Amino acid sequence: MKLPLRGIPAEIPTGLNVTLTGASLHRMGTDTFTHTKSCMCGLGQIEATVSSPDHRWPSAYNVHWSYSIKCAPCSGEYMVDDHGLVFRRSEYAANRAAWDAWYKAAQDYEATPEIAGLKAEFAALLARLRTKKAAHEFLTLHGFTTDKYGTFTRAYRDAQSYAEGIHSSHAPTMARLLGKDPSPFQMAITALEAQRDAIPSVRRVMSAHPN
Ligand SMILES: [Zn+2]
Repeated sequence: MKLPLRGIPAEIPTGLNVTLTGASLHRMGTDTFTHTKSCMCGLGQIEATVSSPDHRWPSAYNVHWSYSIKCAPCSGEYMVDDHGLVFRRSEYAANRAAWDAWYKAAQDYEATPEIAGLKAEFAALLARLRTKKAAHEFLTLHGFTTDKYGTFTRAYRDAQSYAEGIHSSHAPTMARLLGKDPSPFQMAITALEAQRDAIPSVRRVMSAHPN
């Protein structure tokens, strides 16, 4: 699974400044061009290599970029991602590990008997609503869905499968509607949010991309 990086926009190179010479336009096969930038320590280089099939008009869809840090000290300390963004390896690894831990904690919470039990009771409550229309109105009123009725009714099979698919962030609401104390659920969710908010950010050092 590819995890999102906090604070890093999904920067995909577009509007590529690739100039093909007249000769290369007529050669069969793949053209490659290498752009270089000075590395972080200034003693080596970061290469950005673009390869494109022999198309007359290269576009973002038919070119491939690859990046390489040609400096031993810098390649030990830094890395380049698929978009040409340069990060400190230590920061990148810490960020990834923290996201992995958070995803696992969130999944573990979702799988607790407390959540399963709550969903089972909520399914019974939902099943008492006799029509899909009534279920849709109830679930909309309490913030479980923002779907229009048509969309909702195509997806809604029965109360039990619907309840099983409810995310644990709705657990406090489910508890309240069942006349239970929502605070244990709210505390667990608040703790997960705090864990997510504490994930260390990873700063982009530079872009290896020529643009
Ligand atoms: Zn260097």
